[in-house]
Amino acid sequence: MTQSLNSSNPAAAQANSIDDFKQNLASVRSRIDAAARKAGRDPASIRLLPVSKTVPEDRLRLAIAAGMDFLGENKVQEVARKAELLADIPGLKFSVIGSLQTNKAKFVAKYADEFQALDNLRQAEALQRRLEVEDRQLDVFVQVNTSDEESKSGLAPDDVREFVNQLPQFDRLHVKGLMTLALFSDDSEAVRACFVRLRELRDSLRESVPAEMSIEELSMGMSGDFELAIAEGATVVRVGQGIFGARALPVAG
Ligand SMILES: *Cc1c(COP(=O)(O)O)cnc(C)c1O
Repeated sequence: MTQSLNSSNPAAAQANSIDDFKQNLASVRSRIDAAARKAGRDPASIRLLPVSKTVPEDRLRLAIAAGMDFLGENKVQEVARKAELLADIPGLKFSVIGSLQTNKAKFVAKYADEFQALDNLRQAEALQRRLEVEDRQLDVFVQVNTSDEESKSGLAPDDVREFVNQLPQFDRLHVKGLMTLALFSDDSEAVRACFVRLRELRDSLRESVPAEMSIEELSMGMSGDFELAIAEGATVVRVGQGIFGARALPVAG
């Protein structure tokens, strides 16, 4: 029988105290470590990015007190709002993991330390210009559409090489690797195929990317499928509901 993935309920119980958050975090982290060891990989090579979208300020403060200091958000305005609300917390960082309209690049440049959904040159240009204004730098991942779904953002795998080759001109952007959202499906083999595609693309790009660039990172896997993603080489997993509890709204691709 096919292993059931995303549609099974991957959400943790709603966390409402610092201890709840510590427990949920430790439980996800130990599943990550176990999946890494099973795949013969070093657990320390896998970063857990907690995804705090829709989580309000009071619960975020508990999560931060439980040790989370780098948070993933899919909406730029939500990052801007939360960064202002939580400005009293030293060292807190945000990663923007959702698609970005060019006219909102200024918010990413001002508030984010990482952007995982880069997929067009106008976006890169707008980010570079705004980062110069803010005198900041930004780590970026190129988003790839590995499921061939029209609704998903990201570049087609065949277009990534040419795109990446144009990125060195944007010296405020530091390319780290590739990011994808797998097919939302029960069929673990169809989900796995998306992860395999991203890894194989990274492996083939390694040979051809500009010398000063490194694209080693693979950001793939969410609450419902991060163990599978780790088996296929994920170096960053983005986990929301598995830490924060179920969200009311479904994930938009
Ligand atoms: C919401 C989201 C996640 C996390 O999804 P969960 O099911 O809550 O783990 C990961 N990546 C992206 C791009 C998202 O928008």
